[in-house]
Amino acid sequence: MNTKIVKIQSREKTFSPEEEKTLRQAGEIIQAGGLVAFPTETVYGLGGDGLNQESSRKIYAAKGRPSDNPLIIHICRLEDIGFLVKEFPENARKAADAFWPGPLTMILPKSGHVPYETTGGLETVAVRYPSHPVAQKLIEYGGGYVAAPSANLSGRPSPTAAKYVIEDMEGRIDMILDGGEDDIGLESTVLDMTVTPPQILRPGFITREMLEEVLGEVDIDVTIMESGNSRAPKAPGMKYRHYAPKGELTIVEGPPEQVVDYVNRAAAADKAAGEKTGIIATSGFLNEYHADVVKCAGDRDEEEVIARRLFAMLREFDDEGVTRIYSESFQSQGLGQAIMNRLLKAAGHSIVRL
Ligand code: AMP
Ligand code: MG
Repeated sequence: MNTKIVKIQSREKTFSPEEEKTLRQAGEIIQAGGLVAFPTETVYGLGGDGLNQESSRKIYAAKGRPSDNPLIIHICRLEDIGFLVKEFPENARKAADAFWPGPLTMILPKSGHVPYETTGGLETVAVRYPSHPVAQKLIEYGGGYVAAPSANLSGRPSPTAAKYVIEDMEGRIDMILDGGEDDIGLESTVLDMTVTPPQILRPGFITREMLEEVLGEVDIDVTIMESGNSRAPKAPGMKYRHYAPKGELTIVEGPPEQVVDYVNRAAAADKAAGEKTGIIATSGFLNEYHADVVKCAGDRDEEEVIARRLFAMLREFDDEGVTRIYSESFQSQGLGQAIMNRLLKAAGHSIVRL
């Protein structure tokens, strides 16, 4: 398949006539059952018509994603949610008022309009209203209900720039809208509104603390941060190894000096054994690490920067042929929790605690 790649840099709500034409064409592709990758404020999405079971099948095939891992349906107007869900309870409305458009996905009981192919056979549907202007326009022209997982091959780090989408998806989908780099760099927070209290199934930019300010008590699915857990996470997608670089990744947690010492020794031993080594460090200790490639994730206090850099760093290690990676660990509250969750999954829960 020939994949059309078109640049669309506008982050304003108004588009040039040329961009407007591109967006209409992209919308038509979706309405005709095709697939278009597009930028959002979180990561790039791989969009198809969420109400068309054939489109959903195509999305699973293009990603190589197991079909029991449900897709998020993206809308571009709050009122459109009524069509997708059986009920829209008061607390879901409150969360929507506070965080939509934005990086929050809510799980609600699905209506009869939503095919089981899109929900991975579940009676619930995941809905998000993204804030990125390109995403909003594409959804509008695509018919209003665009199913979109992250636009990476299943198991690979989510794409935070179009070049990574091209790497994974060229030849597999109809069109890629290249809107440059995404702002947040981590996928949306997934919040289950079908239980009381609401439960976070995937941590993200909208943190538990932010949700609790609006909704009162909010739980978090504990299985997603634990390793070696025998219980399955509630979001089907969270049980799969994910976000993984090709190199083997280990997280090292402990007092900073000890972490530096451990990582340097381990990397030296790996190097002696013929591995190409890489390290993910925060700026404070950057100069103390020794490896073939040392990457700066950002300042430990600036979690938004770390979040934005994380997936790109993992992909860069692949490009550089790094086979053994060590990373500092991150804190387990606020945005740090989302960063740590992605890192743990990328590492297949390989963590050394000093
Ligand atoms: P992605 O499409 O890559 O952003 O991943 C979407 C995430 O939301 C996956 O972890 C899914 O398993 C989860 N998800 C989507 N729909 C549902 C649902 N109805 N119930 C629980 N989790 C869901
Ligand atoms: Mg994904």
